[in-house]
Amino acid sequence: MSEIVDVAIIGAGPAGLTAGLYAARGGLSATILERITPGGQLAQTDKVENYPGFPEGAEGWQLAYDMQQQALHFGANIVTDDVASVDFASDPKVITAKSGNEYQARTVIVASGAHPRKLGVPGEGELAGRGVSYCATCDGNFFRGKTVVVVGGGNTAAGDALYLARICEKVYLVHRRDSLRATKIYHERLEETENVEFVWNSNAVRIEADDDGAVKSLVVADKNTGEERTIDCAAVFVAVGNEPNSDYLYGALDLDEGGYVKADEGGRTSVPGVFAAGDVRVKSLRQVVTAVSDGAQAAENAAEYLAI
Ligand code: NAP
Repeated sequence: MSEIVDVAIIGAGPAGLTAGLYAARGGLSATILERITPGGQLAQTDKVENYPGFPEGAEGWQLAYDMQQQALHFGANIVTDDVASVDFASDPKVITAKSGNEYQARTVIVASGAHPRKLGVPGEGELAGRGVSYCATCDGNFFRGKTVVVVGGGNTAAGDALYLARICEKVYLVHRRDSLRATKIYHERLEETENVEFVWNSNAVRIEADDDGAVKSLVVADKNTGEERTIDCAAVFVAVGNEPNSDYLYGALDLDEGGYVKADEGGRTSVPGVFAAGDVRVKSLRQVVTAVSDGAQAAENAAEYLAI
């Protein structure tokens, strides 16, 4: 058992790091638990253009790193451990990691974010890491000069297609509808980018492998006619949305039907003293700027809860 801290924060993405910064700077003892490396999805983002204060945009990994340094500077403690389960009914609250370590805290901020949704087509699982990727900025360079496909129509798919167009010979953007969900600024840029080709109204059917067991093509079907088309490519980047990292919370907190944590604008969940921040929580706009806002709000409300 660890010492009892004022606030344990689960997840070191923008929401968790900001919660740590606010909590520690406000005089609370704060431990942030992170299963991999701090930064969350932000650290895997090429460029962030809509976070205020950076007229030319900020590199995702750099912004994430700076947030981490700022939280550490004010005394937040970041521990690498993968949370397996929680007991929010006990006092203090207990968090158990897959390592077997247990953490005790007077309050908890759940900021465990989200992970990319799978396409769910044949070939996807077998070829993950062999041409199927969920992170263009992590893996794009392996396919430099090649033809690749991005599947999806949101901001992630649009940003990935633009990023990959800079390093790949050709990028197909496959979307199931005839227009993107992504913000308008992306549409204009994509249309201006010569080596991006849209494949509209098309569902991914299967991903095919070559003799070496690496991706060689994506088969798509026209949504209206059912006609199949094979797109030869070295990689398929899947960008079809996210799912919350909340498996460890089932039974401990009220979640919605998609597994997102129900919380009010102050981050208060169904359990007093437990708060939620960032992409893991039910909310209408999932951005870095809303995640950091959530983190600050949750930390302030945790402090208020402790003062009662
Ligand atoms: P998203 O906005 O949920 O978009 C997911 C896209 O994938 C949609 O176009 C959806 O199609 C499509 N899709 C979902 N399931 C599919 C399936 N099984 N097969 C084929 N297509 C499927 O997800 P996101 O783009 O990852 O973005 C997640 C959040 O992060 C959003 O709130 C987004 O605004 C934010 N974000 C913001 C920025 C930025 O501001 N620069 C960058 C990245 C992400 P439909 O359109 O038909 O539903």
